[in-house]
Amino acid sequence: MEAICKVGDGPGAELLEVPIPRCKEGEVLIEVEEAAICASDLQLFHWRPSVQGQTFPYPLVMGHEYVGWVREVGSGVAGFAPGDYVAGETHIPCLACHYCDTGRMHICANLGIVGRTHDGCFARYLAVSPWAVRKIPARLPGAVLLEPLGVAIHAIQQAGVQEKAVVILGCGPIGLMAAAAAKRLGALQVIAISRTPAKLARAASLGADITINSQQQDPVEAVWDATWGLGADVVLEMSGSRTAFKQGLGMLRKQGAMVAVGNLDGPVEIDVLQDIVLQEKRLMGIFGRCMWQTWDTAVALVRQGDLDLTSFISDVYPLQEFQAAFAQAAGSMSKILLRP
Ligand SMILES: [Zn+2]
Ligand SMILES: [Zn+2]
Repeated sequence: MEAICKVGDGPGAELLEVPIPRCKEGEVLIEVEEAAICASDLQLFHWRPSVQGQTFPYPLVMGHEYVGWVREVGSGVAGFAPGDYVAGETHIPCLACHYCDTGRMHICANLGIVGRTHDGCFARYLAVSPWAVRKIPARLPGAVLLEPLGVAIHAIQQAGVQEKAVVILGCGPIGLMAAAAAKRLGALQVIAISRTPAKLARAASLGADITINSQQQDPVEAVWDATWGLGADVVLEMSGSRTAFKQGLGMLRKQGAMVAVGNLDGPVEIDVLQDIVLQEKRLMGIFGRCMWQTWDTAVALVRQGDLDLTSFISDVYPLQEFQAAFAQAAGSMSKILLRP
């Protein structure tokens, strides 16, 4: 089969002919229907600082967001049958550590990651632990995006947005999903911030109450104005920009919570005493989705018709045109799919 592979350290990837993976004991073999390109795939492709210094098992099949069908079930696997329609969870838990043992498999101490430590989904087939696969009850439209939607929902759940003034910093696909989901999960006021007018228009169409163009206005001042001088209860940092990160802390009211989601490209200097301690602010990170509470919420939102995931998809490319697909995905507010 053809697969988009990372073949060594440094920028780039190659379309290689590789064997169809064998379904080993404790694995399921999945035929990929379609896969989505994630910002983290682009970081690996372009060899950004966030991936430098890590080791990868080359040649590595890239990709982790997908839907498809179980085609084979390895020995020792319960609960899956050929023909099951499934979506990929990126985290592969060890099932033996303290975190797995206490219901926090997504931050497993020995975490495997699809498309990073294990071969991924930019290919016709992948063989993977069933613990990194979620059965989808029906063929939900746009289910290939349940994984990134889960990131947005996890951030929302971590902060708690009910009856809160919530700022979304950065309106890429996950930021836009967060704007939509925050509103539907009870936020009183959703404020979307971006430098791109088209992204702000899209955020407004998804339910953002206020949009702020950070190139035209000081976003910190604008948030204080929009919240009647109080500041935001919650900031979801989805941009990955170090400037935005600092601005995010400045937008928070006392006891507010900021959730860091975007992958920053380096350290940020903050005045912990003035900016956090004395104001009782909370700063939290999230990594992926909770397994499986977040998935249940994501699936419910889509099933009920609260969120149309297909509206977040702009283009579908064959694997062979991955270079063009990756180029289009960079900075896009929509998701780009690959079809093997
Ligand atoms: Zn992803
Ligand atoms: Zn574990």
